[in-house]
Amino acid sequence: MTPPPPVALVTGSTSGIGAAIARRLSKDGFSVVVHSRSSAAAGHALADELGSAVYVQADLANDADRVKLVRDAVGTWGRLDVLVNNAGISRVIPHADLSAATPEIWQELYDVNVVAPFRLVAEAETALRQAARQGRPGCIVNISSHAGVRPKGASIPYAASKAALTHLTRLLALSLAPDIRVNAVAPGLVDTPLTADWTEARQLWKERAPMHRAATPEDIAQAVAMLVASEYVTGEILLSDGGLNLT
Ligand code: NAD
Repeated sequence: MTPPPPVALVTGSTSGIGAAIARRLSKDGFSVVVHSRSSAAAGHALADELGSAVYVQADLANDADRVKLVRDAVGTWGRLDVLVNNAGISRVIPHADLSAATPEIWQELYDVNVVAPFRLVAEAETALRQAARQGRPGCIVNISSHAGVRPKGASIPYAASKAALTHLTRLLALSLAPDIRVNAVAPGLVDTPLTADWTEARQLWKERAPMHRAATPEDIAQAVAMLVASEYVTGEILLSDGGLNLT
């Protein structure tokens, strides 16, 4: 009898990087739980396109929704092998404009970019440990940012939230091993709806990055797939910025 396919939950997967990750993991043989906060029509359409996939709507700023998302994801096929914490929010604020970075903005970004991934991991821990008993360690991939690694990015609250996610990745890798591996991908500029009008950044990547272009969502999905494919790598932050950090 053929074993059932492994299952991946990809948060924020109706657009941009998340949609590319969902498509890639589906191609790699996973059943996929597609998720977003509000775009249900796009979510159902993507799930139909992928075949072995379902769509679940949940607001990750709300803790009851976080718990329900993981329960629905695990309940669909009775297992969970991979959790990709991709959903995230950003705010563009000049770094020198300290008063524009209000406490409300700090809290909103921290809640969605750091607390939500942590809570999803906590809720998914039992199912991910179970994956190890079925033959492969469970796997978590957090989508951080180059702004969480270097003093750059759309705003100080955004960069600090991604730095927290990066550190959370290492802390969880240590506490969840060997049953669950935890890694992160830290993209530089990626061509998604979120960055459509970031013309200066696009120019910077074209001129200065050794790869002379921003990443496509598929480039980032490939980096995620590489980490998912491993059975050994844990606690790593895979910087995917076309080499800009070298310049
Ligand atoms: P996007 O806006 O297309 O996707 C973000 C996703 O997050 C959406 O599906 C949205 O529904 C979801 N989301 C946001 N708030 C949510 C909430 N409260 N509840 C549930 N879902 C919520 O953006 P993207 O560019 O594809 O970004 C994906 C990830 O990559 C984010 O974590 C972002 O910080 C990170 N990132 C993006 C870039 C880039 O250049 N685009 C660079 C570095 C890191």
